[in-house]
Amino acid sequence: MISSKEVLCIFIFAIVVSLTHASDSSIEFTEQENSYLQNAMPIKMCVDPEWIPFERINDQGQHEGIAADLVQLVAQRVGLKIELYPVKTWDESLAASKSKRCQIISFINQTPDRDEWLIYTEPTFYDPNIIVTREEHLFVADLRALQGESVAIPRGTMIEEFIHRDYPNLKVILTESEQAASLMVSERKADLMIRSLIVAAYTIKKEGLFNLKIAGQVSEYTNKLRIGVLKDEQILRDILNKGVKTITPQEREAISNKHVVVIAQKGIDYSLVWKILAVLALVLLVSAYWIRKLNVLNKELERLSITDKLTGVFNRVKLDDVLETELKRSVRFRQPLSVIMLDIDHFKQVNDTHGHQAGDMILSEMAGLLRANTRETDILGRWGGEEFMIICPQTDINGSKTLATNLCRIIEQHIFPIVHHKTASFGVTVNQPGDQAENLVARADAGLYAAKHAGRNQVKIWPCHDD
Ligand code: GH3
Ligand code: MG
Ligand code: MG
Repeated sequence: MISSKEVLCIFIFAIVVSLTHASDSSIEFTEQENSYLQNAMPIKMCVDPEWIPFERINDQGQHEGIAADLVQLVAQRVGLKIELYPVKTWDESLAASKSKRCQIISFINQTPDRDEWLIYTEPTFYDPNIIVTREEHLFVADLRALQGESVAIPRGTMIEEFIHRDYPNLKVILTESEQAASLMVSERKADLMIRSLIVAAYTIKKEGLFNLKIAGQVSEYTNKLRIGVLKDEQILRDILNKGVKTITPQEREAISNKHVVVIAQKGIDYSLVWKILAVLALVLLVSAYWIRKLNVLNKELERLSITDKLTGVFNRVKLDDVLETELKRSVRFRQPLSVIMLDIDHFKQVNDTHGHQAGDMILSEMAGLLRANTRETDILGRWGGEEFMIICPQTDINGSKTLATNLCRIIEQHIFPIVHHKTASFGVTVNQPGDQAENLVARADAGLYAAKHAGRNQVKIWPCHDD
């Protein structure tokens, strides 16, 4: 049983076969041509085996390139089959053609020499010939103006045939291939070369000869590339010519683009470009993620470095720092700066009676109480042990005394966990001319000592003016 899918495949295959083998029904052949076509064996074709992107014989022995596509299109239109005559060099092809071992030459310029044994179809392709020089060479407006310059020309080409006649002022150096000619110019063994625009562009790119440039055009040498046919095969030429005439400019454009685009874009591997962009994007994303994470970690690290772990208020390091900067600021703006030092009374008893953990809890509670009852502009920190410091910018001794007295009362009235009641003693001072941070701390400490000495749970200003 044949499935409907298989029927569809056979149907499509039949259409493709009929399209590729049957002649174009719009072409009108004479009776003679029709009978030739009916009895025709595959047509033997000679080609240039090394003339990319026009044509070449690839490693699998197949004909490929612009010429290959054009000839196949013509053959398909007229309903002929083509058989490649394998060769290694262009000279071999010319020799095979002259000795009638092949009936057609795929892609050839018409020249008087070749007229000896060939007739031609109309051109299948036009391509300007250009002058290629090294980068430093001046623009060439007219080849006749050059004196004694050497020109590298591949052997057996149309240009070789014409150059001696048209430009006797140039010294011709014949080379074995297109590549050899460009290499001679690149390596300063010849001054210039004249070649097809398409082929020269391809060769320069492929060989990486980027010291070469296009220095002018030889308009009289535009390549008009045709299918060459043996002189005694006129019917075959006429049939092929009818096929050539069916090629539309769009088809010609599409075929040349197919091969020339490959050349023009050689070297730009878009899949590689996308891969590189993807990797770059990934690197950027990962970097952005890590930069963000590092910023967060740095901020946290900075916060930890200035925070007292147990109570969450500033630590001694930060207090020292703030004291220095606030003292400088107060001197500069001639403003008072007060410092309050407080110490919890008989704190040792807490540890002794209720344990160290209970002591820690009281310290945290005390810090919270102090923070809740100081202004945002006051800087609260743990000086060490059960001692706290409050730095009060722009606050004179009356202001800091009031604050310390308030705090003393608030602490006294506060109900702490476990111990319920606790008091603290306060030493208060304000900056004096010529003060260093140490002086401020020492005076606040002295005030504190005086408060302890006077019975604790009180505020003492230092220097003391009681007596
Ligand atoms: P005074 O009224 O004279 O200040 O008496 P005091 O007992 O408060 O003073 P003292 O200097 O004799 O004792 C301070 C105690 O504070 C001793 C120490 O174990 C305790 N302390 C210091 N830092 C911490 C801490 O981080 N956690 C706990 N639980 N106790 C601490
Ligand atoms: Mg104490
Ligand atoms: Mg103490």
